[in-house]
Amino acid sequence: MTAQLISGTLLSQQLRVDVAQRAAALTAKGKQPGLAVILVGEDPASQVYVRNKVKACADTGIRSVFEKYEATLPEAQLLARIEALNNDPSVHGILVQMPLPKHIDPQKVIGAISTAKDVDGYSVLSAGELLAGLPGFRPCTPYGCMKLIESTGYNLRGKHAVVIGRSNTVGKPMGLLLLQANATVTICHSATPDLGYHTRQADVVVAAVGRRNTLTADMVKPGAIVIDVGMNRDDEGKLCGDVDFANVKEVAGYITPVPGGVGPMTITMLLVNTIESAERR
Ligand code: NAP
Repeated sequence: MTAQLISGTLLSQQLRVDVAQRAAALTAKGKQPGLAVILVGEDPASQVYVRNKVKACADTGIRSVFEKYEATLPEAQLLARIEALNNDPSVHGILVQMPLPKHIDPQKVIGAISTAKDVDGYSVLSAGELLAGLPGFRPCTPYGCMKLIESTGYNLRGKHAVVIGRSNTVGKPMGLLLLQANATVTICHSATPDLGYHTRQADVVVAAVGRRNTLTADMVKPGAIVIDVGMNRDDEGKLCGDVDFANVKEVAGYITPVPGGVGPMTITMLLVNTIESAERR
């Protein structure tokens, strides 16, 4: 069996058309959606991520306010800037690119962002809203994974989903979103003794580890949906996921590629959250 590819690139394009239409409708009413993107320091990967986010805004008619600060920026100054953006009615989303320099407490910074503008969905309050099943902003990567699963038309009700990884930004919220969709959820992590025992029973596997070949073909139930969040490099330096793609695609029913799977969806869901924030106002 050869799995059907779930293309995050294609789904992103479709969702971004909708984002652009909604942005244009808001702009016509004098309420152009705005996203503030803050970068502190010179981390090269962060610079690429931020550039891509700013470009995605421009492509879809969202106004982006890009603010770049020296790595020596005092924490108090960053907090004061966030407070000003919280009170700026033309800004509907605030994103502070991680990681921050060591002298700045990321929890304090994320906590300073108004929940109404926390379009990354990383704050403790946003996490609480997700846990309680209240409306709020969902973290972009797991939200994107849910959209990828939905795009197959698969009904998660009563199905067994296994998430590998329990980070606050991917694994845990992923588990909660799957639970909300009425799946039976197992979350595995580095202390799980026999990963394959769990994944072999799964109708859906989401791998969010950061280690290539974590999920191999013998660990996958035939026909399962496999979502690969991982971003790693292979021996030739090429981008790859956590899943042994070449072999798992012969067993799975659906699979996301890396690149071109979860990656583009993460930025797209940031745009979706920003539009939703602007529409709520
Ligand atoms: P993280 O914070 O490092 O979490 C990794 C998780 O994997 C941890 O919960 C860890 O368990 C678990 N783990 C490690 N080794 C394991 C093993 N052998 N078996 C089972 N579980 C194991 O990473 P993250 O931020 O969640 O990101 C995970 C991956 O997704 C990374 O490659 C990252 O680059 C990628 N990512 C991609 C996107 C995207 O847009 N495509 C977005 C975010 C992240 P413990 O908790 O026990 O340590």
